Amino acid sequence: MSQLLFKDIIRRKREGETLSSKEIEYFVSAYTKGEIPDYQAASFLMACFINQLNFTETRALTKAMIDSGKILNLSQIKSPKIDKHSTGGVGDKISLILAPLVAASGVCVPMLSGRSLGYTGGTIDKLEAIPHLRTNLTESAIIEQLQQIGLVITSPTSEICPADKKIYALRDATETVESLPLIAASIMSKKIAEGVEGLVLDVKVGRGAFLKDIKTAKRLAKMMIRLGKEFKVKTVALLTNMDEPLGRYVGNGLEIIETIEALKGEIESNIKELTFALGEEMLLLSKIAKNRKAGRRLLEEKLKNGAGLKKFQEMVKAQGGDQKIINNYQLLVNAKYKFYATAPRTGSIKAIDALAVGRLCLELGGGRKKKEDIIDHSVGFKFLKRSGEKIKKGEAFAEIYANEQEKGRMVKDKLEEKIIISPTPILKRPLIYERIDGD
Ligand code: URA
Repeated sequence: MSQLLFKDIIRRKREGETLSSKEIEYFVSAYTKGEIPDYQAASFLMACFINQLNFTETRALTKAMIDSGKILNLSQIKSPKIDKHSTGGVGDKISLILAPLVAASGVCVPMLSGRSLGYTGGTIDKLEAIPHLRTNLTESAIIEQLQQIGLVITSPTSEICPADKKIYALRDATETVESLPLIAASIMSKKIAEGVEGLVLDVKVGRGAFLKDIKTAKRLAKMMIRLGKEFKVKTVALLTNMDEPLGRYVGNGLEIIETIEALKGEIESNIKELTFALGEEMLLLSKIAKNRKAGRRLLEEKLKNGAGLKKFQEMVKAQGGDQKIINNYQLLVNAKYKFYATAPRTGSIKAIDALAVGRLCLELGGGRKKKEDIIDHSVGFKFLKRSGEKIKKGEAFAEIYANEQEKGRMVKDKLEEKIIISPTPILKRPLIYERIDGD
């Protein structure tokens, strides 16, 4: 197909027509090879964004992106292969706690994760707060590590969905990210290419997520579950609340500290609730647990007897990371300045806004404003108080870790402006809204 004919495909999508699978395959393959210029691809993506893709088109896009690279060949591994994916939030370190607990329970977890996007954090950036830890493993290193310890958390290799890398970068630059079919195809192509049998999705909803309402999140979850079914990856989803940060820490190194503390047994109630709910789903998909109660028992045991912490340590060691971090948190966070954000009035904390916290973490250097930015792993927040708790005027509700005094001060002032304190006790919204599966 020539560029002349690709113009015809763009025009037809612009007019709201349905494209054939062949036409979608052509776009993915030719753009990946550099045969379609960015300006035409951008125009095509905008036409898809505005006029949407139906399910057949979304399926074709997903397949073409998988076919642009390789599927991890995990056939030598006999244990069930299950992964979890979160659509992204603030303070979301659940993967780092969940994956070792589930792997210690007998599941093989080949977790290929992403980096931070705007104000939401990324598992790979958090892991890179551990000195020397490698997150760019080759396919053979991934397979070897899975055979040895049943757990790997790394970036996708260059051979996993190369088309998605290129298309996603263009979507990011052309305001075409927030399209449900494009998101569903992008996420599911990468997860299907991991070679897993089952997938648990944590679809985040709320102020600190890119999906703001439950109805839209449910549509995305259903689309991804249906794609999973088409490609024989049994998929279930939990829709979960992202109005406020998860846990007490936000920031890359700080969230590794919270992960280690959780695996040592000092686990925040909202982190435990979500980790166990997702873990039960993974154990059910793997058939290691017969029912939810048995799954919970197993996770509880792996947390209590330190098997989850041991698995985390094994992963750090296998990926070349400094194991001393387990007992020496100075190696993870050594920011020069610490500030305290204090309550402007007495009352009950109504909300700690996840979006504001995510953006302020970005201001401190804990995320990337541009793709090339280098992350400062030692900055962030420790929340001393959570929503629903009582607080007195002048009492500290958060510690702020900064490497630039001016920025630290500015973030402290803004955080104090953002906290909402109510004179009357507040009702908290649930953490888990709904479970969706394909049956
Ligand atoms: N994460 C992805 O991997 N892809 C998207 O399109 C959005 C979030």
